[in-house]
Amino acid sequence: MFIIPMLVDQTRVFIAGNPAPRWIVIHKTAGFQTARECANYFATTPLMTSSHYIVGLDGEIVQCVGEGDGAAANCCVEPGHAPWLPAINLNLCTISIEHIDPSPDNSTPLTVAQKLASFGLIADICQRHRIPMRPGDAGGGIIGHKDIAPQSRARCPGNYPLQELFLYLNQRGANTMGGIPTAWRDDGHTLIAPNGISITQGFRDWVLSHNWSSDDVPLSLEQHRDPVQAHAPNFGAGQIQCFVHSLLWWTPATGVIQESQLGAEIYALQSQLDAAHTQISSLQAQISSLQAQLSAQAINPKVVDAIKEIQEINVAAAAALADLEAK
Ligand SMILES: [Zn+2]
Repeated sequence: MFIIPMLVDQTRVFIAGNPAPRWIVIHKTAGFQTARECANYFATTPLMTSSHYIVGLDGEIVQCVGEGDGAAANCCVEPGHAPWLPAINLNLCTISIEHIDPSPDNSTPLTVAQKLASFGLIADICQRHRIPMRPGDAGGGIIGHKDIAPQSRARCPGNYPLQELFLYLNQRGANTMGGIPTAWRDDGHTLIAPNGISITQGFRDWVLSHNWSSDDVPLSLEQHRDPVQAHAPNFGAGQIQCFVHSLLWWTPATGVIQESQLGAEIYALQSQLDAAHTQISSLQAQISSLQAQLSAQAINPKVVDAIKEIQEINVAAAAALADLEAK
């Protein structure tokens, strides 16, 4: 995908910080002929407006704002907005994509080139930011501007082919990622299952990229184990997290391994194993202590022997001395 970068300060209008975008917002421009023309407008208009990307009718993509910052495209919810959208400045948690449409009512069909560029761009953004490739809900996804502003932006994004987009993303996403499971939450660092237990770092990455079933919730937080697999100590120490249907474990050598088993049973067994390990450690300490005592006692007969030897030497020395004195 070829994207023409515009320096962020060329558009002037952006909001610093967009650390964990949760939704992609689709717009149409209701005016303009090319992406560059629209980008120049963002760069020069006194109105506070911009978007991250503009997709032209010819498929040209111009980037106006870095994804790490917020664009000024869709700040505020209006009455009638999608109910799960938070009433915050949505520019701080969205990535906005404009699509050139010269018609004031956004009725021009996307060209084939524009559609391909748009779909590819959206899939790419979803993968990089782990935005769910599905119609938006509280957990994230893809929405239209009118989901935020149904009154002033009822015609944005007009006739953008959302259903076709989701078919494309489903086919593509089936093999590449799953996104945030339905009803789970993710803030860009921590994934939280509906039961409130969180998943972080490598296990989070794994869950987000493997079509994770939404009912496969974690049973505990991630734990350190040494060895990570009691039945396979050669793997060494690592991290482990149990889920209802799965077990994830990690070592530096193996990376993340998923075992699709009855996680609940494994979890129960491992809890028993933990208890057994504690008992074994306690018993081993007792044995060590007993061995130390035995060793201490084992020295005593030697000491007795040594004393006997010393006494014998004393007797011999006394005899020798008596001999010398006699001489
Ligand atoms: Zn819009």
